[in-house]
Amino acid sequence: MTTQTTPETAPIERTLVLVKPDGVRRGLAGEVLRRVEAKGYTLVGVELVNAKEDLLARHYAEHVGKDFYQPLVDFMMSGPILAVVVEGQRVIEGFRSLAGATDGTLASPGTIRGDFARSWGSKVMQNIVHGSDSPESAAREIALWFPGL
Ligand code: UDP
Repeated sequence: MTTQTTPETAPIERTLVLVKPDGVRRGLAGEVLRRVEAKGYTLVGVELVNAKEDLLARHYAEHVGKDFYQPLVDFMMSGPILAVVVEGQRVIEGFRSLAGATDGTLASPGTIRGDFARSWGSKVMQNIVHGSDSPESAAREIALWFPGL
């Protein structure tokens, strides 16, 4: 018998996915959920939210003061957002990979942003989805959007 040095299982993580107002408006919420489920992840919380400025200020705290901050917050208040908590092994990295690069023009085809988002000027913010970028961000963001979960 050989000694196993690499674990075959990874801990189950959770991440916060947002289908941004452009994604909901364009009828892409179902497509995003389909891709998440097709990858093998589990939906553990789903809610349509009209986000208020204070929630977005806390969500985007790291961007306060940047020139795109207020336009981004205004865009995120321009319509409903589908907030989703997704669970699975390495799901934080996995969803970022499904989402693709921030700039939809540069995002690889096959990713959500690469397939559905274009960008020029201020449109770079209209990139369909958000996904937490680290375990710390995921915990903080899930507590903000799903305080009961
Ligand atoms: N964003 C923007 N202008 C920029 C950079 C980012 O409008 O120059 C928006 C865009 O919607 C992005 C969000 O701010 O998704 C958060 O930026 P971040 O760098 O965290 O990108 P992400 O993690 O969403 O890929």
